[in-house]
Amino acid sequence: MIYFDSAATTAPSKQAVIAAENAFKIYGNPSSVHSAGLEGKKLIDQARKSLSRALSCKPEELIFTSCGSESNNQAIFGAAKLRLRRSKRIITTDSEHPSVSEPIKALEDEGFEVVRIPTVGGKLDVSALENALEGGAAFVSIMLANNETGAKYDIPAVRRAIDKSGCGALLHCDAVQGFLKIKDKREIVKNCDMASISAHKIGGFKGVGALYIKSGIKLPAFIKGGGQENGLRSGTENVIGISAFGAAVEAFDESVTSHISEIYAYLVEGLSKKDGFKLNIPENHIDTVISLSVKGVRSEVMLNALNSEGICISAGSACSARKGVSHALSGFGLPKEEIESTVRISIGANNTKEECDILVEKLDEIAKRLRR
Ligand code: PLP
Repeated sequence: MIYFDSAATTAPSKQAVIAAENAFKIYGNPSSVHSAGLEGKKLIDQARKSLSRALSCKPEELIFTSCGSESNNQAIFGAAKLRLRRSKRIITTDSEHPSVSEPIKALEDEGFEVVRIPTVGGKLDVSALENALEGGAAFVSIMLANNETGAKYDIPAVRRAIDKSGCGALLHCDAVQGFLKIKDKREIVKNCDMASISAHKIGGFKGVGALYIKSGIKLPAFIKGGGQENGLRSGTENVIGISAFGAAVEAFDESVTSHISEIYAYLVEGLSKKDGFKLNIPENHIDTVISLSVKGVRSEVMLNALNSEGICISAGSACSARKGVSHALSGFGLPKEEIESTVRISIGANNTKEECDILVEKLDEIAKRLRR
């Protein structure tokens, strides 16, 4: 199998699997005060330190959750509740992941005013944001990198705009796709009040996420109970998944990111030589996602044809696969017929140039056959 769908989920790294195998043997409840429990707590502390080093934040500013979607929901509903008395406005973009756009839609249905900033060409419209901020906001939620186009949004400019407006809005960032894949790793913590990350996009396991919450921001408890995770998210922690998350973060180093960038450049070059292929590449992007419109071939037809050749890619995101037209691609500015023929190729640590050659040739061959 050739796998080019790492934006949906990555293969777990060797280091994550080893950490999990080790954690399996440690079965004490991390909240227990005996030595079996303390061993479990030690693994969680270790993982939290690995994440905090990667983000440049304090370990106590990180809460483990069950996934990136949970982190997004907790940040959004928590910030809305926290800031309810100040403002009932929310500013976001037109191309967020459903785990951000759906909770915001739910708040809109409850009476919040929502402003969605355009992201044509994968570029956040900063002057539209500045205008929107004149009306104040409870919070702003803007993703770091888009899961369908790879566009990297200008988070430092968002911070500057909020500060300039003086409205005091909180800034939440869905950093699930961008975490560890952007040049300045400190950008998230330097600019955001809250940020969501997920283990399975960087070589960890599915079902584990984290939320960064800047010290001093008092979000309401997400799950009330025994008081784990700073009292914010009760429930016995997923020690195995968390331990693997920490190991995956440590393993996702410079050698991985430079390999991914090399594969990205190689693939883009190969794809750009083929007739009828249009690359939707934003000026600022992460190097893991390539959006490609294949003239005259519907994306699901291409997907199935490639799948029967043992190659996995996707049409848009896994989450929007069953939801009709992608708002991320329409926000990008693609017309409907191009959206319908757009596939997403996403790169992970294990992809090789040989796999790129096979993918490009198969895409070309199938497109020619289907256009006939
Ligand atoms: N945000 C973005 C940008 C994503 O791409 C995804 C997953 O595809 C999520 C959030 C949700 O993460 P999880 O699958 O861990 O819930």
